[in-house]
Amino acid sequence: MEFGWTDEQAVARENVRAFLAEHLTSEWQEIAPLSPGSEAVTSFSKRFCPKLAEAGLLVPHWPSAHGGADASPWAHFIIGEQLWEAGEPRGPQYYNVNWIGPTIMKYGTPAQQDYHLGRMRRGDVIWCQGFSEPSGGSDLAALRTRAERVGDRYRINGSKIWTSYARLAEFCFLLARTGSDRRTISVFLLPMDRKGIEVRPIESVVGEGDLHEVFFDDVEALESERLGPEGEGWSVVRYALNYERVGIPRYALALKTLHRAVAALISEGAFDAVAQDAAASACSMCEAARMLTYEVVDQRSKGSPSTGATSMARVAIVQAERSVADFVLDWTPHLFGSAEQPMVATHHKRAIAAGIAAGASEIQLNLIARDILGLGGSRGA
Ligand SMILES: Cc1cc2nc3c(=O)[nH]c(=O)nc-3n(C[C@H](O)[C@H](O)[C@H](O)COP(=O)(O)OP(=O)(O)OC[C@H]3O[C@@H](n4cnc5c(N)ncnc54)[C@H](O)[C@@H]3O)c2cc1C
Repeated sequence: MEFGWTDEQAVARENVRAFLAEHLTSEWQEIAPLSPGSEAVTSFSKRFCPKLAEAGLLVPHWPSAHGGADASPWAHFIIGEQLWEAGEPRGPQYYNVNWIGPTIMKYGTPAQQDYHLGRMRRGDVIWCQGFSEPSGGSDLAALRTRAERVGDRYRINGSKIWTSYARLAEFCFLLARTGSDRRTISVFLLPMDRKGIEVRPIESVVGEGDLHEVFFDDVEALESERLGPEGEGWSVVRYALNYERVGIPRYALALKTLHRAVAALISEGAFDAVAQDAAASACSMCEAARMLTYEVVDQRSKGSPSTGATSMARVAIVQAERSVADFVLDWTPHLFGSAEQPMVATHHKRAIAAGIAAGASEIQLNLIARDILGLGGSRGA
């Protein structure tokens, strides 16, 4: 077992740092604390992502057949750690790189791959994810939005909720029921400008532009917009969720926030033994999250099937974020309003949402009970 970085990986990380130092100018420093879905961050990411792409830092881990550089998943995580620590300048486009792109690579037709992966690798398209519904998000297989087949088309009716970036997105990765059996679901790659789609924003603590309701009133989808075979969307969703849940190295911002809080305490002469104890505990949680994430990256780099390790890593990531948020709340609450440390408050907001978005933590615990402890069935994906 080898826990160190190779010389090549260390150089790659330095290259990413140098790139970010050059391109994350004062404009970025001002807007970095905002939500990835805000107008300001989206407008920045539309200019920034093509530059990342040109520098070979957007999708190096994608196969060369799809415009990547055949780099290992480690390259993706090294870049991801630096980007997330800096506030995620890719904006909503991190979805594409992390999980929508890889899912289209596995299940898409050549035409879907050609068009959608081409847009994603150039860094010029925003997607949203239409999974959760008002009747509940945890039991995904119970979703009610229907896609009825009419000849060679579908008519979609229903609604989604908590849809991040819907107002900005050009496409929706949409789940809809195409049969009466519980898991008879299909996935559609639906353009968001289609007649019959209405988007309403939901105000939330997460920030401007993040959450929405999306209504579908007799929306037409073409057969060529379905991803994978009709009725077999459940496998597509499970594949996608494994990438989504461990796609962003969220522990990187947690650790950086912890260091900021500790530095403030040291400079104030207030880093006493009790604070040190609490900081060490939060730091250990971040390190555990990092190691469990690396186990998932290692599996991906060997092409092994995903296991319960994904859920364990996700639970550890959420706990790491929450323990850092608790530390800041207990020891440096004055940093929340600090103009010099705006990312501290941002981390707190992101930590609140972390145990809910991409599947609630309780559902991850159910999956660990089922897949690792062998304790029987679970309805989660
Ligand atoms: C910031 C943010 C962004 C999001 N973005 C998106 C998005 O872009 N697209 C999208 O589709 N969704 C999105 N979501 C929604 C998210 O996926 C759901 O909130 C989540 O899956 C939980 O579903 P729910 O809110 O309907 O809660 P419910 O499923 O109603 O669950 C309520 C509570 O009951 C618990 N619970 C439910 N079932 C079980 C069980 N079997 N065992 C134990 N406990 C259980 C849950 O853990 C939760 O605490 C986002 C959420 C947040 C917070």
